[in-house]
Amino acid sequence: MANQKKTRNQNISKIRKLRKEEVSVDSLIEGIRQSDKASLARAITLVESSNPEHLEQAEQLIVKSLALNSNSIRIGITGVPGVGKSSFIEVFGKTLTLSGKKVAVLAVDPTSALSKGSILGDKTRMEELSKDPLAFIRPSPSGESLGGVARKTRESIILCEAAGYDVILVETVGVGQSEIAVHSMVDFFLLLKLSGAGDELQGIKRGIMEMADGIAINKADGNNVERAKLAQAEFARALHLYPPKENGWVPKVFCCSAVENTGINTLWELIQDFTKTMKTNGHFERNRKLQNKNWFLQTVDEQIKVYFHSKKSFVEAQEEMLKAIEENKISPYHAARKLLDGLKEQLK
Ligand code: GDP
Repeated sequence: MANQKKTRNQNISKIRKLRKEEVSVDSLIEGIRQSDKASLARAITLVESSNPEHLEQAEQLIVKSLALNSNSIRIGITGVPGVGKSSFIEVFGKTLTLSGKKVAVLAVDPTSALSKGSILGDKTRMEELSKDPLAFIRPSPSGESLGGVARKTRESIILCEAAGYDVILVETVGVGQSEIAVHSMVDFFLLLKLSGAGDELQGIKRGIMEMADGIAINKADGNNVERAKLAQAEFARALHLYPPKENGWVPKVFCCSAVENTGINTLWELIQDFTKTMKTNGHFERNRKLQNKNWFLQTVDEQIKVYFHSKKSFVEAQEEMLKAIEENKISPYHAARKLLDGLKEQLK
C-alpha cells in the first residue's frame, strides 16, 4: 500500500516536471530572440524530436525563426578523422568570438545513430570554445538516415540564425554522402587536408574537390611546413584542371596550423572576400534559394515515400510482388511497373 502510494506520488511529480518543462513556442522564440542559449538548445531538441506531438511546435518555431532577419554566413568543414577539425574549429571559433562575432558549431555525423560513440564525439572537443559566452556548440543529431540528420541540422541552422549567431560552422566526418548533405546547406565549403608523402590527390573522395571553395592544409607546423607547402602547390595545380565554377569563384588553397594559430586569419579573410564577391554578383542569394528549392523537393520525395510505405494496401501489394519475384513469376522491373500502375489508377 505504502509502495503504491509512493509510486503514484513519483508519477505525479514526473508529470508535473514534464508539464513544467513544456514551454510554449512563443516563450521559446522570445528566448531565442534574446539569444538565450537554454531556449535555443530546447528549441533544437524540439526540432530533433521524433515525437509527432512536437512536430507542430517545431514547425511553428521554424516559421517564426525564419521571420527574424539574419545576416549569417554558413560554413561547412570536412576532413578525415584526425585531420584536426575540432582543434581548427576551436581556434577559428575563438578568433571570431574575440572579434565580437557569435559562432554556432553544428555537426552532421550519420554514424551517431549506428555506433554509440559517434566519430564526432563531443566530450573533450573544443574545450575553450564551449565555455565562450559567444559560442554555441551542439553535437550531431542522431537519426536513422542521413536525410533525417540533415533535415534536423538545416532547421537548427535557422534557429541559431534567429538567435543572432553570425557564423554557423557545420562540421562533418565525410562518411557516405554526408559531405554532399553539408555542402547543400552552407554558403562556403572548406576541406581540411594533411600533407602526405607527395601523393596528396590519391585517396581523395570523388567530387569533393569540385565542392570545395577553400582547401586548408592543416598541421603546417614544425617539420611539416615544407611538405605542407608542396601539398598546397599540388592542390592548387589540381584545382586549375577543374572547369570554372558557375559563380565565378576560384577555390583557394592555403596552409594553416591549429596548434600555432597560423593561417586562420587567411581563412577568415578568404571567407569575407568570398561573401562580398558572391553578394555582389548575386550568387549568394541565388545559391540559398536553390538550396531551399532542393530542400523542398527532397522533402516532398521523402514524404511521398513515407506516405506510401505507411499504407497497408501498398505494403501488401509490395509483398505480393516480392513473392512473385521470388517465384520467378515476374521480372523486377515489370513488378515495379505493375505496382506503380496500380497506384496511378488509384490517384486518378
Ligand atoms: P579531428 O578528428 O579532425 O577533429 O582532429 P582533432 O582536432 O581531434 O586532432 C587530431 C590530432 O591532431 C590531435 O592530437 C591534435 O592535437 C592534432 N592536431 C590538430 N591540429 C593540429 C595542428 O595544426 N598541428 C599539429 N601539429 N597537430 C594538430
